[in-house]
Amino acid sequence: MDIKSVGEFGFIDEVSKRFRSLVPTNLMGIGDDCAIIPANEDEEYVVTADLLVEGVHFLRDTITPEQLGYKSLAVNLSDIAAMGAKPIGAFMSIAIPKDVSPQLLDGFTKGFLELSQKYETPLLGGDTTKSLRDLMINITVIGKCKRGEAKLRSGAQDGDCICSTGFLGDSAAGLNLLLNNHKPQQDTNYFIERHNKPEPRINEGLWLAKHESITSMMDISDGVGSDLSHIAKASNLEAVVNIDRIPISEQLLNAYDTYNWNIHKLSISGGEDYELLFTINQEQLSEVLTAYQQQFGKPFYMLGVMRNGEGGSVVWQNDQSETFNFDGFNHY
Ligand code: ADP
Ligand code: MG
Repeated sequence: MDIKSVGEFGFIDEVSKRFRSLVPTNLMGIGDDCAIIPANEDEEYVVTADLLVEGVHFLRDTITPEQLGYKSLAVNLSDIAAMGAKPIGAFMSIAIPKDVSPQLLDGFTKGFLELSQKYETPLLGGDTTKSLRDLMINITVIGKCKRGEAKLRSGAQDGDCICSTGFLGDSAAGLNLLLNNHKPQQDTNYFIERHNKPEPRINEGLWLAKHESITSMMDISDGVGSDLSHIAKASNLEAVVNIDRIPISEQLLNAYDTYNWNIHKLSISGGEDYELLFTINQEQLSEVLTAYQQQFGKPFYMLGVMRNGEGGSVVWQNDQSETFNFDGFNHY
């Protein structure tokens, strides 16, 4: 397996294939935001792991230690939210190079603890080792949900609406500012905070999961372009997105000209927004949206529809039905 030619998803597909026959039929393994393992007659566990590597996912001097601790747990909780599950505990494996300061480790723990407390996710174990150069953090989170109620990527139906719980592109704008050495200041703070301290949509995921009309769900970590193609592939449908309906924050609308940002690139392939992407039966959309707004004091946004067609493909159109091409984020 040559990672340069098969890429991240090619590698995952290959290992998944090699281990598939070992996976018992009552378990769900590789392929969704979490694996699913039966707990008892009524409940099941969901499990996810995510790795943050210095120089790849963060730079020590563009994120505060508190934000790094918060984000390390947040990106995992986001995958628990994507299943519509409730987190019950976390494990932390960390490789620490010698030059990491005590302040970094204290701040890191403080940020992690803040989010642990918020969603009642205690740290239950892990592993600690030295690293020769880069700080590396792997977090595993276990969650729980009612049996059969976890939302998968594979449940979308022809005609379903595609929705996002929030704005897309703000995190990528924050990363762009950080990489161009912009220090946080009043008008850029918002983007940097969205990038360095994302909020996992646990409560939204739990609420959405209670609705049968929600047919599939995942979190937006790589960018809606790449992530939506996973729902489309798993559901064997084509996704049609109206780029004029991709939810863009007022802050991004106000700032993109100043910084010369390509707003479509940021919102479609920027990634790390950690909003929930879900499909919903068209007939129930307006009723569920009204109830959601009452519950959370904010809307979710409809940006497209699923249809029969080329399974796994995403078609980008604008209000005038003109078609465009965009690519998702790929590590390689
Ligand atoms: P997410 O962005 O939701 O964390 P990924 O795109 O990272 O999901 O991973 C997709 C699927 O592949 C998940 O089910 C994940 O558990 C699995 N996966 C990723 N890397 C590996 C690996 N090295 N070994 C086994 N499974 C993996
Ligand atoms: Mg995910």
